[in-house]
Amino acid sequence: MTATPTPRIILTGDRPTGRLHIGHYAGSLRRRVELQNAGTYDAIYIMIADAQALTDNADRPERIRESILEVALDYLAVGLDPELSTLLVQSALPALYQLTFFYMNLVTVARLSRNPTVKSEIQMREFGASIPVGFFTYPISQAADITAFDATTVPVGVDQLPMLEQTREIVHRFNSWYGDTLVEPEALLPEDEASRRLPGTDGQAKMSKSLGNCIYLSDSADELKQKVMNMFTDPNHLRVSDPGKVEGNPVFTYLDAFSSDADFADFLPEYENLEALKAHYERGGLGDVKVKRFLLAVLDRLLRPIRERRQAYAADPGEVMAILRRGTEKARGVTDATLERVRAAMQIEYFG
Ligand code: ATP
Ligand code: MG
Repeated sequence: MTATPTPRIILTGDRPTGRLHIGHYAGSLRRRVELQNAGTYDAIYIMIADAQALTDNADRPERIRESILEVALDYLAVGLDPELSTLLVQSALPALYQLTFFYMNLVTVARLSRNPTVKSEIQMREFGASIPVGFFTYPISQAADITAFDATTVPVGVDQLPMLEQTREIVHRFNSWYGDTLVEPEALLPEDEASRRLPGTDGQAKMSKSLGNCIYLSDSADELKQKVMNMFTDPNHLRVSDPGKVEGNPVFTYLDAFSSDADFADFLPEYENLEALKAHYERGGLGDVKVKRFLLAVLDRLLRPIRERRQAYAADPGEVMAILRRGTEKARGVTDATLERVRAAMQIEYFG
């Protein structure tokens, strides 16, 4: 007898706290589109995590509401195809709340307090002693999101690794107490270091909506130019003749994440590749402006078609919302079925 193989399923998503930026693109969106087009997965679910976004924006419902459409436009603009990937809205799936409630019994307060991502996000938001309970427990709701779809694969940036670890622990505990029910997921990180956590234009460790150091997928050509030309570089690289530092210099990190040898051939043929450019910068004699102009050309080539597709979809917001409604309805069936399985395993389906 041969065992039926586990279906390969992707679940991933974003918080609708604003438009998406090139950090999201490098860390997750780019991979999603590749995997979608490769056709090697049985299902792909892309979640707009509005209930999670409300855990630290409960007083700003309009911000979350407006961002739903913005994030959906970003998805369609980068090439997510609703025929191939199910685009859905988290809060409309009641099974997720129930799973979260049951999973809360499988996690200790001490364990949540140790989660490094939650720790640093609490610091960044300056909650002090006033951490909303919902925010503190969002790793548990994220475990509900992932397991509700029986996801095997979660393409994310490196900041999400502690969430995946937490989910795996919940799966293990659930399956050991209630019998084999939940599927254990794996994170899929970008292959290159630079894309795993893209820094901000200001040189801070992470490009993040909450830090205001982003290049958005929807930025106009002018905004893009402004942001690139004003980027933080090596603060000790004052004169062109000075030797410069490449590590911790976000201009070079972005080139690591986004440039190809073809870009050099087309925009900066005097250098064979990024290694040659970096070597010149470190030696001295290469100015920031020249490197930034090249980065601008690279990003413009990447973002121009995304920007144009985005504008085309933005002309018909009704159709975009209809795409989300259809995806969410499909997702409701999937998550309800998982909930039934979970309730049966927990022996609480008293009435059949
Ligand atoms: P917020 O500040 O509201 O948390 P965010 O910018 O951190 O927003 P999320 O919605 O939390 O974005 O993250 C969505 C996905 O994008 C996750 O997979 C995350 O790992 C990835 N991601 C976010 N920022 C970056 C970044 N700077 N580099 C690489 N991946 C990123
Ligand atoms: Mg985040």
